[in-house]
Amino acid sequence: MNKRTPLVAGNWKMNGRQELLGDMAQALAGYHGEAQVVVCPPFPYLAAARATLPETVGVGGQNLSDQEDGAFTGEVSAPMLAEVGCGHVIIGHSERRALYGETDACIADKFARAQAAGLVPILCVGETLEEREAGHTEQVVRRQLLAVVDAVGIAAFAQAVVAYEPVWAIGTGKTASPEQAQEVHADLRRTLAEKDPAIADSLRLLYGGSVKADNAGLLFAQSDIDGGLIGGASLTADSFIAICQAAK
Ligand code: PEP
Repeated sequence: MNKRTPLVAGNWKMNGRQELLGDMAQALAGYHGEAQVVVCPPFPYLAAARATLPETVGVGGQNLSDQEDGAFTGEVSAPMLAEVGCGHVIIGHSERRALYGETDACIADKFARAQAAGLVPILCVGETLEEREAGHTEQVVRRQLLAVVDAVGIAAFAQAVVAYEPVWAIGTGKTASPEQAQEVHADLRRTLAEKDPAIADSLRLLYGGSVKADNAGLLFAQSDIDGGLIGGASLTADSFIAICQAAK
């Protein structure tokens, strides 16, 4: 099995101000753990994040346009994110899918735009509670993943990250058990291995959904969980650093 470097990404969503960036920069300056760390604040703070956070910490966008630069008021393109110092971008977060109607096809376009600008996409997949209760979890996450694989090709996943985020666990305080999460992660890796075993083996698969300092260790200890995408607990420096330290 490949030794994958763990990755922990903080998704601030539409939260945080300049002050949080200052706290995070100070706390992360003292972080020397094994995990690669990426901070994803809202768009207005990206340039400041790149200027303030330690160089070893990556900066990521939470979304991007599926279009090139042009007459798309309110949108932000992949080259803009790259120019202000982003190395990563979250794509297909369940809030984007549910609240802004992002389809699998739109998400695949965004994935391609991100990579064309040199950004590493963090592609989110995950089932709703209804889908889980109906026994459709694997079917849903495979569909979401394969929609992108089929559009961009499996080779593109050599430079990508996938985050499994069960919708019922995001912001609810209900975490998937380590076994539940591992089961889905293993299935996602198997799905990719059918296309390219080496890429599947090296791909980082993050878990997201109410990860906290006290449950991160057990989740990250699972063989197919390579770190986390962290929402609420990335909004205070102490809890975010504790989660980063749990990834080894
Ligand atoms: C997220 O927003 O991607 C997320 C996982 O949020 P939380 O950690 O708050 O559940």
